[in-house]
Amino acid sequence: MSIDPAELDVVYYPDAILRQKAAPIPEITDEVRAVAARMIELMHEHDGIGLAAPQVGLPWRMFVTRGEDGEPETVFINPVLSLARGDLVPHEEGCLSLPGITVDVRRPKAASITAMDLDGNSFTLETDAFTARIWQHEFDHLDGRLIIDRMGPMDRLATRKQLRELEHAARR
Ligand code: ZN
Ligand code: ZN
Repeated sequence: MSIDPAELDVVYYPDAILRQKAAPIPEITDEVRAVAARMIELMHEHDGIGLAAPQVGLPWRMFVTRGEDGEPETVFINPVLSLARGDLVPHEEGCLSLPGITVDVRRPKAASITAMDLDGNSFTLETDAFTARIWQHEFDHLDGRLIIDRMGPMDRLATRKQLRELEHAARR
């Protein structure tokens, strides 16, 4: 194993890995399973509802989400997302890689997603609940996209100082 999962931790804006387009996972190995387990652990540690592989420094197309109402966490490998047509709905979003920042993001309300699980089985889920927003947020990470790319002019102004502080902290 070339990756020590215990060494992985959440990376913060403006780390370049967050802007990279992640590559599909060619094969689900023990390493992939160990990384997924570590991502689930970090998601809980950092009190997040989802976490994408680029957020732990790996340019892989994989993300995890927290289960609702005692449901287990879900691991999405090489996901394909399709969005419902119709109105975009604004809602506040935060991101573990952008500590202290919340912005309004407009997204389609419903989505369906097809991905592979840790056993290599394909599954499809569909919802118009809040979970659809989480999928879209995490999927964005796989294409190097962050919530600050989707914010409006008011949030742009409101978060300017915080973003500059994060950029400054990274240079220290
Ligand atoms: Zn940590
Ligand atoms: Zn995020």
